[in-house]
Amino acid sequence: KSKDKPGEAATPMMAQYLEIKSANPDCLLFYRMGDFYELFFEDAVRASQSLGIMLTKRGKHRGEDIPMCGVPVERANDYLQKLIALGHRVAVCEQLEDPAEAKKRGSKSVVRRDVVRLVTPGTVTEEVLLDPARPNAFAALARARGADGEMRYGLACVDISTGAFTALECAEKDVPSELARLEPREIVLPESLFADDHLRALLQACGAPVTPLGREAGESAAERRLTDFYGVATLDGLGLGSKAEILACACAIFYVERTQKAERPALARPMSQRHAGALEMDAATRANLEISRTLGGEREGSLLSVVDLTATPAGARLLAERIGAPSTDREEIARRHDAAAFFLKHPRLREGLRNRLKRAPDLARALSRLSLQRGGPRDLAAVGLSLLAAREIAHFLSDAEAPAEIAAGLAELSAADVSLQLKIAGSLVEEPPLDRRGGGFVRAGVDAELDEARELRDQSRQVVAGLQARYAEETLIRQLKIKHNNFLGFFIEVPQAQGERLLRAPFENSFTHRQTMADAMRFSTRELVELDARIASAGDRALARELFLFDALAAEILAQSPALQRLGDGFARLDVFSALGELAAQRDWRRPVIDESLDFEIVGGRHPVVEASLKAQGKIFAPNGCELSGGAVAVVTGPNMAGKSTFLRQNALIVLLAQAGSFVPAEKARIGIVDRLFSRVGASDDLARGRSTFMVEMVETAAILNGAGPRALVILDEIGRGTATFDGLSIAWATIEHLHEVNRCRAIFATHFHELTQLTKKLPRLVNLTMRVADHAGEIVFLHEVIKGAADRSYGVHVAELAGLPPSVVARAHHILGELEAADRRAPVEKLIDDLPLFSHAATAQAKAGDPLREALKAIDPDVLSPREALAALYELKMKA
Ligand code: ADP
Repeated sequence: KSKDKPGEAATPMMAQYLEIKSANPDCLLFYRMGDFYELFFEDAVRASQSLGIMLTKRGKHRGEDIPMCGVPVERANDYLQKLIALGHRVAVCEQLEDPAEAKKRGSKSVVRRDVVRLVTPGTVTEEVLLDPARPNAFAALARARGADGEMRYGLACVDISTGAFTALECAEKDVPSELARLEPREIVLPESLFADDHLRALLQACGAPVTPLGREAGESAAERRLTDFYGVATLDGLGLGSKAEILACACAIFYVERTQKAERPALARPMSQRHAGALEMDAATRANLEISRTLGGEREGSLLSVVDLTATPAGARLLAERIGAPSTDREEIARRHDAAAFFLKHPRLREGLRNRLKRAPDLARALSRLSLQRGGPRDLAAVGLSLLAAREIAHFLSDAEAPAEIAAGLAELSAADVSLQLKIAGSLVEEPPLDRRGGGFVRAGVDAELDEARELRDQSRQVVAGLQARYAEETLIRQLKIKHNNFLGFFIEVPQAQGERLLRAPFENSFTHRQTMADAMRFSTRELVELDARIASAGDRALARELFLFDALAAEILAQSPALQRLGDGFARLDVFSALGELAAQRDWRRPVIDESLDFEIVGGRHPVVEASLKAQGKIFAPNGCELSGGAVAVVTGPNMAGKSTFLRQNALIVLLAQAGSFVPAEKARIGIVDRLFSRVGASDDLARGRSTFMVEMVETAAILNGAGPRALVILDEIGRGTATFDGLSIAWATIEHLHEVNRCRAIFATHFHELTQLTKKLPRLVNLTMRVADHAGEIVFLHEVIKGAADRSYGVHVAELAGLPPSVVARAHHILGELEAADRRAPVEKLIDDLPLFSHAATAQAKAGDPLREALKAIDPDVLSPREALAALYELKMKA
């Protein structure tokens, strides 16, 4: 259609397109043209491949065909969802005026258009694009020198779909573990940081797309950006701790403004997360414990998937957050347990609450969409229903003597605004449509002007029906129908055969021919045209009035958004507590005792996920206890498939659940607060990847040995297996000594190096555990039961016997095995254990000086001491001096 020649200037429309595109080079540009979003050039090629839609051409540019593809506006969300899932970013460009306006300016002039928002994985808000049970956040990263001169990283996390906004400061090495906890869908950072190869690699390993922001996102205007956004004079009131935090928050706000353009989401003020309160886990530990996803990347089969019995999406999000960051505050944990215990004890209240919660809508996300002008009538209704549910629930639980955490949630709910609820309920129809653009959501009788316009419209429709009857009679065409479409408006349709008659006298003057179809002809009349105009204008007036009422109601709601957000939090908390009560009831979980000791005492513990999957197969999980009080290290040996890994992980999961506020899968549990959890599996026999996996394993082990303090719990599964036997054995050996002597933390170490069980001779807090194996008349059965002692290793020979090797060969093999064990393996190791000074003994022996003060100093590892322990250590030194 375009008449462009090579070298000739682009058409005005193409010029506009290219200008807008050049401002958004990193996005696919959805360019609005009537009922479609069109994509051109490279964008069209990529989108058509990603979406599997047809690639066509539209005109030429510099002599070349312009590739094009398009998606209908009504279905845009489906396509956006696909593109976002594939990691694309989309700039949505709308027509900002009626095409008629543009025409008035001259025949060549183009409809004004601009990008109204960017749709990116971390900033979507539409229901269809979101997973209701998971936060949908992006993280912004910034860097600044701290007060001590060290480089610090600020990490801000924003969930536009709920308005949640948090910030924290950490060292570079902790950035990956913080990101693993936050699970952002997208990471943004200033260009200068993006240029740092090391950092970029670190971030890319987190799995979320990393987007650099332009120079404007930099430091200079950071404070202003924040104060402007929140309309405050200074930052002091926001309670942000440090420069790095401020920069990160400003960077996040920049990205919000950049992606949301005109609209300002109702973001809460950034909450600075002080680190002290949460159980630390690094990215490898989270992955290994399969908290929110399995190692294969699935949700199904993760810890969350089996413990999440929440009734609402907001509750599910809060539970995920708590399990992802369990508390280390004993009182806080106890309060949460009290709340879960309350709902366990009162099944009627629990059920009643859960049923009511299930009917309540997702308030936080509805509010967010309304604040972004993306809400629909159902979002208004959601607010009304939430207010109603809040009062019902507050009333329902009002008589109960609820513990503190529940009472606090109830207080939020009973503050629900009755008049706002009544107003919303009174304004909207019973089942409002999703989209406001079609109207039809305001109740009759609410607004006189709207009622009048609707009446006019509906009356005219009746007149149309009357007209049809009259025309049929006058023309004697019984099949005559009056129909409507967007192109012709109202028109008369008759079968082709009869249509010819209307072209002649006496009808030719009153019936105007409009269209001839394959089997029908279409006409209009002056009367019909007039009616059409009247109906259209009444309809337009009604719609405009409805939209006005929508905006007014939305504004009224948004004026209360802080209170409504608190209401949403109240729902989420009650949901989490009642779900934890339900969990304890359904699975017979028990309340753990959490104290300040360094003990660890589990009786009858189970692995929640393995137990659930065994149960689904009709099998029973064998419960196992674990005793690590006072910083014991357990070495677990036993054959493959006997249940070692399961045992290790279940103890870590019990800690995690307990400190998140849940009851635990055990008959009894007493846990001295754990402040850091480490979980590692040795590199598997992945020959293809060879040494690099072993390297990873060693780097991770190093992180543990350097980082675990006395309050840590360390789970090591088959460390050292990724290398040659002697290397592996030596590393495993030294690791156990270090854990026992230097870290002095609670630890469980599974290994197939049976030699290590000998270490109990030297290390007093070391215990040997093994998996019980039954030998029923020659049949070997794994009982999955953990018992004290070292493994009996003759299963290989037993298996050989089962397989039918001649008895003489089996007997001979037994004999050889015995000899080998006695001569070649145990003896040298036992001798080594007797001869080799222990790790720390070696260290202290070197300190020869014999000066107790010097020795005591050497024994202190400042990196693992809490402030209180440091103070205690100082007193001790002083005493020695
Ligand atoms: P290992 O680490 O010793 O090779 P795993 O912990 O991977 O063994 O367990 C192997 C299988 O044994 C698991 O998949 C599970 O089905 C079963 N299993 C493990 N622990 C138990 C248990 N306590 N009770 C019942 N079955 C168990």
